[in-house]
Amino acid sequence: MSGECGCSANQSFDGSSPAYKRVLKLIIAINLTMFFVELAGGLSAGSMALLADSLDFLGDSATYTISLIVIGMPLATRAKAGLFKGLSLFVIAAWVLGSTVYRVFIEGVPEALTMGTIGFVAFAANVISAVLLLKYKDGDSNVRSVWLCSRNDAIGNIAVIAAASGIAATNSAWPDLLVAGIMASLFIHSAVKITRQSWRELVNERKRVLASSDYNG
Ligand SMILES: [Zn+2]
Repeated sequence: MSGECGCSANQSFDGSSPAYKRVLKLIIAINLTMFFVELAGGLSAGSMALLADSLDFLGDSATYTISLIVIGMPLATRAKAGLFKGLSLFVIAAWVLGSTVYRVFIEGVPEALTMGTIGFVAFAANVISAVLLLKYKDGDSNVRSVWLCSRNDAIGNIAVIAAASGIAATNSAWPDLLVAGIMASLFIHSAVKITRQSWRELVNERKRVLASSDYNG
């Protein structure tokens, strides 16, 4: 992970273009809207998977806003933003895991129709985001992670829709809790990955700065 290769022009695209910033703002608006839609849907349907996914929309809105702010800033600043992303994902994962375990001991079956409908709207929102970002998917790690995230979230929404059908078929809460649990473990996986990469970037950048100050002095 030494950033010395020039590679293709595309791979060094760090998001510094007005067109990309416009797309990113639109994606942030979509994610923030979907946070409120899924939060309301999750509470009214009693679905942990919808609540977990709503938190993902909230986290993504925050993450993309940070990405937008740090575009063009020094690597060390961007790496610190990455560390913040990773740590906040850990917090979300812990909350989802904790409340899912809590739900295991609570009676009640989520409302499958609401869950499936909201899940489908969320799926559409993520597919639209992924398509809007498709053009930029080969940029630097920041730009790339935004695209990957929308794509993965669309896949997660299919799991929510499947869980809703499972609930309708079995009249039990287990499909919901299972999907919420899987989502929490995916959050942890991403959190570890993002935290590691940002930490490495930060350490490398510090080494590079020290080396160049040695050289100059
Ligand atoms: Zn996401």
